[in-house]
Amino acid sequence: RAKAEGRGVIRSFDSSMDKRMHDQRILQRDLQGAIARGELELHYQPQATVDCTVYGFEALVRWRHPSRGLLGPATFVPVAEESGLIVEIGEWVLREACREATTWQSPLKLSVNLSPVQFRHGDLVQLVHGVLLETGLNPTRLELEVTEGVLVRDFSRALYTLRALKALGVQIAMDDFGTGYSSLSYLQAFPFDTLKIDKSFIARLAKDHHADEIVRAVIGLGRGLNIPVVAEGVETDLQRSFLEREQCQNIQGYLIGKPLPIGDYGALTDPSTEMDEIEAQPVPRRQ
Ligand code: C2E
Ligand code: MG
Ligand code: MG
Ligand code: MG
Repeated sequence: RAKAEGRGVIRSFDSSMDKRMHDQRILQRDLQGAIARGELELHYQPQATVDCTVYGFEALVRWRHPSRGLLGPATFVPVAEESGLIVEIGEWVLREACREATTWQSPLKLSVNLSPVQFRHGDLVQLVHGVLLETGLNPTRLELEVTEGVLVRDFSRALYTLRALKALGVQIAMDDFGTGYSSLSYLQAFPFDTLKIDKSFIARLAKDHHADEIVRAVIGLGRGLNIPVVAEGVETDLQRSFLEREQCQNIQGYLIGKPLPIGDYGALTDPSTEMDEIEAQPVPRRQ
């Protein structure tokens, strides 16, 4: 700060940086005890075939902050990654989601997001193995979602870990496909089980012919490589029907359902509590 004295521009830049860092520090401090205080929650978003049959859920973490209300991951996951707290949070998420999925009456698939930090710290393979044993969840029902950020740093170690995870019988999805730098080479390096087309492309469908072509190309790529594709962020039936025409297998987005507490999807996880407008039906898994 001292250096900035008398230099207005630099100082105001400095103090807004200070404020941001201060806010981040407070958030980080609050987050420290959030798990112990039971402030973290999982919401679940349905994943469906392109004809809208739900076959699984993605667990998405939220933080019920005592004064700031319900916070989404964009607010606190980066802070947690920076401080390393994401390792503990990720462990909680995985255990909680797997435990939850074992209570479902139908054997729906469960998707859980992993942070690149979890690949670098802590024993991820040991964790997943332990949680599967402890909860009794069938590994074939679990899919771990990673972004290419996982492979950017320490490529060979990440690859080793992904292979070891797959050897446990779980599936691996590449999330946010198309947004990073070298997704294509990662597709070659590792046999991903699912490709999730980033929602930014879906949002531009029918508005921007580049988006149309990119989405078409990714679907074609998935078909060629025999990797099922999930389109993320599908909000309209127009988008859905485009995807159906292009033979995209799966969709996720507000059109099917928003991320909600699992109780709100009780009719899907326990089909015996009937709700006639939606029907749950696990789809056959690709082997
Ligand atoms: P993601 O894994 O790509 O998850 C999809 C995000 O898109 C979710 O945001 C979801 O609410 C949002 N979304 C789904 N459908 C629609 C739609 O139709 N329209 C729009 N506009 N958005 C839609 P959310 O829950 O805020 O999560 C953001 C990101 O935070 C996730 O992106 C994931 O990368 C990360 N995240 C969430 N939960 C966890 C977690 O437990 N661990 C880690 N490491 N990261 C997590
Ligand atoms: Mg995801
Ligand atoms: Mg995504
Ligand atoms: Mg993401």
